[in-house]
Formats: sequence, structure tokens, C-alpha cells
Amino acid sequence: MLQGKVGLILGVANKRSIAWAITRAADRAGAELVVTYQNERLQRSVQPLCDELSKPPTLLPCDVGDPAQIEALVEAVRARHGRIDFLVHCLAFARREDLEGSFRATPWAGFETAIQISAYSLVALARAAAPLMEGRSASILTLSYLGAEKVIPNYNVMGVAKAALEASVRYLAADLGPLGHRVNAVSAGPIKTLAASGVSGFSSVLDVVASRAPLRRNVEAEEVGDAALFFLSDLSRAVTGQVLYVDCGYQIMGF
Ligand code: NAD
Repeated sequence: MLQGKVGLILGVANKRSIAWAITRAADRAGAELVVTYQNERLQRSVQPLCDELSKPPTLLPCDVGDPAQIEALVEAVRARHGRIDFLVHCLAFARREDLEGSFRATPWAGFETAIQISAYSLVALARAAAPLMEGRSASILTLSYLGAEKVIPNYNVMGVAKAALEASVRYLAADLGPLGHRVNAVSAGPIKTLAASGVSGFSSVLDVVASRAPLRRNVEAEEVGDAALFFLSDLSRAVTGQVLYVDCGYQIMGF
């Protein structure tokens, strides 16, 4: 499904990462991949994972908090691959102290960090990558969560960041649509990952979802990877600006 496409994937930290499940799905579908790591510490866990893929990906650093690193990443992709057919933004960050307790206690520093890393980085990446997407009918995909639209205990400032992210998906879709590019989000159900463990009380969220979701279970990262293939491939060529729930149906429940 992705044969002949060059994909840039940000957000792999370890084997539990949703970005890793997407990377494996894209690799199986035949894509030529560029995978990034946030810093040298994470490079040590991402490098051995990449050795498991059928085609060795290009591995590059990128901390999205640093505009110069985003520019350097895109330049390196241009030099090695010449184009981008799809971009996966699968990353988020908020300070641990802002993911528990009273939301009104969130200081500007924590609010700004969450928005910059978790939402604005999508806009910055789309802008930087657009020249490499020219004429490619490219697809941009990001990862969101129900906390963007409903209150989830302790999700706090990350819920606000995800709301900004989902609005950015719509504005980017309108902005890039005339160039032929699409921008969508997958809103995944809760999955035990490094980022999720930073949210206080996360395991009780898993229990609630498993007991109330129509499918009576939690989603697996591999299932998010499979759903991502729809957006990264031409199967979704007429779909843009959307948020698709991959959550065993939990989002439809009112009670
Ligand atoms: P994860 O910890 O495996 O991945 C988070 C990634 O964000 C890491 O690779 C980390 O290096 C990266 N990151 C953080 N700050 C960064 C920065 N400044 N520059 C570059 N990269 C940075 O956790 P995950 O759960 O796989 O998270 C991936 C995405 O999925 C996030 O957007 C998250 O909000 C979203 N999501 C997760 C769940 C869940 O329950 N796990 C549910 C819905 C959506």
C-alpha cells in the first residue's frame, strides 16, 4: 500500500511507542522510512528497534522544541530522499506536575511547553516539510486523545494541547488542501506507553475503558498502526481534516 512512498515518522521512543507500531505497519506496507529520535539517550533504544525492520530506515535526530533541528531534519531528508509522501507526528509532552491535581494551578510555563511541543510542532513540521511534499499529494497524520473534547481526570493541560492540535489539523487541512495534501488525526484509546505513564491515575482509565467500550477491551498499538495505514495510503485520498477514533468505540458512549 505504501510502495514507492517516502515517510517521515517522529515519536518513536521504545517498542511500546504508538509511533513504533505505525513504523512497523508502514515498513510492512513497503514504505521507505525516515525515523527520528528526540535525543541521544533515546537514540540508544530506537537504533536497535530499527534493525528489526525489513528495510533499514534513515535515522535522524529531532527535538521539535528547537526550530533549527526541524530545519536540519528536513534538509537531511531532502539530501537523502528528495521528497516526503507522508509525515507522522506522534509525539507530545507536558511537565509531570501539570498532569495531576488542579488544572487552574497550571502556570504559563507548563501551558506553553505543552502547546509548543504537542500542538505547535505539527504546524512547524508541516511548514518545513511542505516544499519536499510538492506534487506528491502528501498525507500528514497526528495522534490525539479524547481529552481534547471531554474532561479526563489529570489530563489537564494536555487536553488543552490536544484541542489545539485537532483545531490545527483542520486549519492545516484547509491551508494545504489546495496543494493536494491531506492532514488528519487518529484519536487513540488509552495505551500503556512511556508518555501515558506520565498521566497520574492512567491505569484506572484503562480499566474504565475496558469495562465500558462497546468492544469491552482496550485498543492495541498495532491496531492504531493498521488504522494509520488508511491515512498514509491513497485509500484515504479524499479524506482530510478529520479525527478518526481508534478506541474500541469508547468515544460514542454517553455513560
Ligand atoms: P511515547 O512516550 O512512546 O511517545 C511520545 C514521544 O514523544 C516520544 O518518542 C518522545 O521522544 C516524543 N517527544 C516528546 N517531546 C519531544 C520533543 N521535544 N521533540 C521530539 N519528540 C518529543 O508515548 P505514546 O503514547 O506512543 O505517544 C505518542 C502520541 O500518541 C502522543 O501524541 C500521545 O499524546 C498520543 N496518544 C497516546 C495515547 C496513549 O494512551 N498512549 C492515547 C492517545 C494519543
